[in-house]
Amino acid sequence: MLDPFTGVHPTAIMRVKLVHTGMGAIGHPMRATDGLRTLLRQQELWAQGRTTPGKIVTFCDGLLKPSNHQAKADGLGHAVDSCFLGPDPYLEHTAGAARIWAAYGALVEAVGLGWGGRFHSIDQPHAELV
Ligand SMILES: [Zn+2]
Repeated sequence: MLDPFTGVHPTAIMRVKLVHTGMGAIGHPMRATDGLRTLLRQQELWAQGRTTPGKIVTFCDGLLKPSNHQAKADGLGHAVDSCFLGPDPYLEHTAGAARIWAAYGALVEAVGLGWGGRFHSIDQPHAELV
């Protein structure tokens, strides 16, 4: 599997790694799942839950509404998604999940990234350059 940080802006990588270190320190280790996406990949994700099976995972169609995971003018992705290590990567079956995601969001914002938990369509795993 490709390193999810490949093609991501180095500032975003450095900040997300700081967040992961912090979450690990409080007992909730994380890893990156998604960084740079091609237009094709974004369109596949857009189709999921609309014209292909699965649940909706994005509100960016890739063209009219590009994702910050797609290459910006600098050729790099400006967003990284993360999940938790272990059997419940999105804390769907974990007590206190809201508090843990909030800790992640607080760290994301503390390092100067934007957090998807604040989006109109909430996307808690998502962090991006602002
Ligand atoms: Zn994302």
